[in-house]
Amino acid sequence: MNNFLSLNPDGQSFGAYAKFGRQIYRRCTLNAKRLRGLKVIHVNSTGNGGGVAELLKNQIPLERDLGLKSRWLAIREPSRFFFVTKKIHNLLQGQRGFLSEPEKNYFLNRLRGPGQELGKYLSSQKGKAVVVLHDPQVLPLIEFLPASISVIVRLHIDLTTANKSALKFLRPFLDKAQRVIVSHPAYRPRWLNKSTTVVSYPAINPFSEKNRDLSQAVITKYFRRFGIDLARPVMAQVSRFDPWKDPTGVIEAYYLAKKQLPKLQLVLEGVMEAKDDPQALGVYRELSMEYQNDPDLFLRGSKTLTDRDYQRWVNALQRGADVVVQKSLREGFGLTVTEAQWKGRAVIGGAATGIRQQIKNGQNGFIVDSAAQCAKRVVQLVKKPRLEQKLGRLGRRAVKQKFLFNRLLLDYLEIYRALV
Ligand code: UDP
Repeated sequence: MNNFLSLNPDGQSFGAYAKFGRQIYRRCTLNAKRLRGLKVIHVNSTGNGGGVAELLKNQIPLERDLGLKSRWLAIREPSRFFFVTKKIHNLLQGQRGFLSEPEKNYFLNRLRGPGQELGKYLSSQKGKAVVVLHDPQVLPLIEFLPASISVIVRLHIDLTTANKSALKFLRPFLDKAQRVIVSHPAYRPRWLNKSTTVVSYPAINPFSEKNRDLSQAVITKYFRRFGIDLARPVMAQVSRFDPWKDPTGVIEAYYLAKKQLPKLQLVLEGVMEAKDDPQALGVYRELSMEYQNDPDLFLRGSKTLTDRDYQRWVNALQRGADVVVQKSLREGFGLTVTEAQWKGRAVIGGAATGIRQQIKNGQNGFIVDSAAQCAKRVVQLVKKPRLEQKLGRLGRRAVKQKFLFNRLLLDYLEIYRALV
C-alpha cells in the first residue's frame, strides 16, 4: 500500500485485563469468539503523537490477541495537507472561519489516490471486513470503499460548538457511515441518525510504560535529568502545543499561583510529534521566545529520549509533579487526564465537555474556567497534599470502572457484532 504507512505495535495480552472485572472480560472473549478472523482496518492520520495514535497502539494488539485480524494504516500526506486538516479540526472545535473552495478541493483530491488504493485492497480480500476511519482527516475515504464493507467513523473531537459550514462539508461522508462513534452524546450533530451514533469513551492501557507503577527513585532520576527541582513545587501539563490546550492560560495561572508559591515551577511537556498538528511548532516557538528568561518555566518541545524512555518520563512527570493540570478550552476526551488520574492524581481540568466527563468538580479533581481559578486550585493542592491524595484516589477508582481498555474493547466488539 503506497499511500499508507502500515503500523505494527508490539503485542499485548488481553488476559491481563481479567483482574479489572470478570464480567466485562467474559463478555469480551465471548464476543471475540464469534468474530474470530474478522478483518478490521483502522485508518488514521498519524502513527505517532496525540491521543488517536496512543489509542491505536493499544487497540490493534489487543484486538489481534482476541483473534481479530486488525490492521492499522496511517495516511502518508505532505505537510500542506495537514495544514488544511488542522484547519478543519479547528473549525469543528468552534473556531470562526470557513474552508475555501481550493482548500476543500485540495483535501478531497489528495485523498483520491489513497481511497482508490484502499478500495481496491478491500475488494481483493475474502471474508467480512470492517473499516474504522478515525477523525475527519481520513473521512472522505469512505467514498471509495466497496458497498459490502461496514464503515465506522470514530470522531475524537469536541463538536459541541462546531462550525456549521465545516460540519455541512463533512455531512455527506458522515451520512454514509454505518456507525459514528463519539465521546459524548452532545457531540452528535442534530441531523445525524441517533440510532447509528454510539457514545464510547477512550481509554488507557494501565500496563504501558506510560501508566505502570514507577519507583520514586526512577521518578527522581527523570526530574534531575531535566533540571527540575523536586524539592520545590512543580505544576505540569502534558499536551501538544495546541491553542485548544490553552498553554498561555496555563502559563498565566502559573504566574498568578507563583505570587503565593514563589518557588513554583511549571513544566509544559509537548513534543512536536504529531504530523497532523503542524500548528504546534509555531505556538511552541512563540512561547519559547517570550518566556526564555524564566528558569522555572520548562517548555519541552522536542523528544530527546528513545520512545520507551520518553513514555517513562511522561509517566514520571504525571506522578512526580505536585499538581497536574489539563486546562483545555475544548477537549473531546483528554487521555492525559485519565492517565494522571490512574496515577492517583487530582487533576485540575478546563471546563471542556470531554473533561467534565472525567473530572467531577470537587469530588475527584477540579474544573476551572479561568486562569485565576486554575491558580487558586494549584495553590490549594500544593498546600494541601492530603486533599490532593484523597481526590486522586477517587479519580483512580473512576478510571478503573470506566476508562480502561477492557471497556473500550467491549464497546467496539459489540459494534462489530452488530455490523457483521
Ligand atoms: N502526549 C505525550 N507527550 C506530549 C503530548 C501528549 O506523550 O508531549 C500523549 C499523552 O500522554 C496522551 C496523548 O499524547 O497519551 C494525548 O492525548 P489527549 O487525548 O490528551 O490529547 P490529543 O493530543 O489527542 O488532543
